[in-house]
Amino acid sequence: MAIDRDYAIVSLQEYEPQLWTCINCFCGLCVESCPVFIEGRNEVGAARGMAQVGLALLSGELELADLTDDLVYACTGCRWCEWNCSLNTPLYIKRTGTRRTKVSGATMAEIFRSMRAEEGQVPTQVRDALNNLANVGNPFGGSKQTKDKWVADLGMSMEKTDTILYVGATIPYEDRATKMAEAIVDVLKAAKIDVGMVGSKEMDSGAFAMMMGEDGLFAEMTEHNEEIIKNQGVRQIICVSPHDYDAFTAYYPTLDGLEIKHYTQLFLELVHSRRIKFTKRINKRITYHDPCYLGRKNDIYDEPRKVLQSIPGLELVEMDKTRETAYCCGGGGTGLFYELPKIKMNMTRADHAKAKNVDCIAVACPICLQMLDDGIKSRNYNIEIKDIGQLVREAL
Ligand code: SF4
Ligand code: SF4
Repeated sequence: MAIDRDYAIVSLQEYEPQLWTCINCFCGLCVESCPVFIEGRNEVGAARGMAQVGLALLSGELELADLTDDLVYACTGCRWCEWNCSLNTPLYIKRTGTRRTKVSGATMAEIFRSMRAEEGQVPTQVRDALNNLANVGNPFGGSKQTKDKWVADLGMSMEKTDTILYVGATIPYEDRATKMAEAIVDVLKAAKIDVGMVGSKEMDSGAFAMMMGEDGLFAEMTEHNEEIIKNQGVRQIICVSPHDYDAFTAYYPTLDGLEIKHYTQLFLELVHSRRIKFTKRINKRITYHDPCYLGRKNDIYDEPRKVLQSIPGLELVEMDKTRETAYCCGGGGTGLFYELPKIKMNMTRADHAKAKNVDCIAVACPICLQMLDDGIKSRNYNIEIKDIGQLVREAL
């Protein structure tokens, strides 16, 4: 299926000018804080290294088969390099630049993955996730009946509705992510917000397919979702996952005019209008982990923090790497499905929280929730991990 050029993954040939501008500059500002470089101490996985690899592929000095999985699948799409690259610094590029015009390691990784997919050179775990996305709309292979039953058990309507809570592909197939969504639903019910769900008709937004380099599949999923959303008469979409929020706002041209929010944005409105009222205290020292796709990608830093700060008793402390410089949880790109031995971003992020002596890490993304929970358990730290929805429900 064809995909609009503006939304398709860029080809290596199209991206060549960006590769050359990087190599001519060679400042290396993308390297020092790239989590792939920090974890693996190998510069080739950071943007500048990938730019050199891209040019070597174009000149024929390297062939696709020469690229290791460590190079192709390590980037999580965290956008730190994109944010810090000196070539993207002018304000007009930051505001209006696209994946075609910005210099970005995430774009380069997408290109390599797309080339690998075309050649059928995809690791088994990534291939399985892609097959599941194509067959049942989620990467875990969970059944449609499971989703519809979960929605019905929650007492949520699947009829025509103005506002839907879009839960995305991990829910209800991953226990921790499912509990997060259930807490958000409880808060919306307590605030008397009239919201429905799409149930099993909803496919993943396509964010996973895009990150894995499959823009053909991405196109199919976007077309399917656009039709479902229109048929259901939806005017507002509340997203649980920052990845879906990003996909809907950046890559769904026909949803223009619909109001699309991340649930933390809605929560802050509800706090301000006093439809969310707190009656309990949470006397804990808590840090907030910025999801890359909410923060660096979409500039949403304040709303989640303001919701947390409105909870009585809660002490919010910042990690050293925070807001624009936040460290990735490791779950972007193919990180949730395909673990590379040298990359342990979730454990490194757990260390950042531990250094602040916190009781709990608050998150706003089902992928961060899973990754950081695993990171804390691997480190054996006595730190809770909770989604903002769970913390808000606790304080109602
Ligand atoms: S997007 Fe993040 S992980 Fe990927 S190359 Fe850039 S800084 Fe590194
Ligand atoms: S910061 Fe930008 S220009 Fe500098 S080396 Fe990295 S990608 Fe190239």
